[in-house]
Amino acid sequence: NRPVVAVVGRPNVGKSTIFNKFAGKRISIVEDTPGVTRDRIFAEVEWLNKYFTLIDTGGIEPESEDIILSQMRNQAMLAMDMAHVILFVVDGKAGMTAADKEISQLLRKTKKPVILVVNKIDNQNQYDNIYDFYELGLGTPFAISGANSMGLGDLLDEIVENF
Ligand code: GDP
Ligand code: MG
Repeated sequence: NRPVVAVVGRPNVGKSTIFNKFAGKRISIVEDTPGVTRDRIFAEVEWLNKYFTLIDTGGIEPESEDIILSQMRNQAMLAMDMAHVILFVVDGKAGMTAADKEISQLLRKTKKPVILVVNKIDNQNQYDNIYDFYELGLGTPFAISGANSMGLGDLLDEIVENF
């Protein structure tokens, strides 16, 4: 059985963008409307001869903070149950939010490997945005730009290291 890697995080942080880059095709639909993912979900990914199943959590994502938080809790639960490795994606442009903090506490309790991914670091000037996220207590953040495909190779290396 292949290891399962779940992508979790707030709406609009870029989960589906990353999923699609790893999946190599547009399986999960990213729309122009922020945060909208129509179909989730599973893709088989190969990296350096290692194979894993990637899950894009999200679905149709809600607007209200309360509903976002409860849905993130559900995502976190799903990830806790199914995943061997959890990719927790945060938005390096928007910065840290209360929801990020709350979810990171849940994820830490899983005792599973959690990789903190700071997305939307599109260029060197934005690199300083990653430092706030050390506060989440999930180790060294991986700075990536899903949109520009920057940092994805290093992230895949880290994922397969954890199998
Ligand atoms: P999800 O809701 O977490 O699945 O996020 P999406 O993948 O749907 O992306 C939400 C929005 O963020 C879309 O408009 C994407 O084009 C944009 N986005 C995703 N990755 C990046 C990135 O690396 N840089 C920037 N600037 N925008 C991104
Ligand atoms: Mg999505």
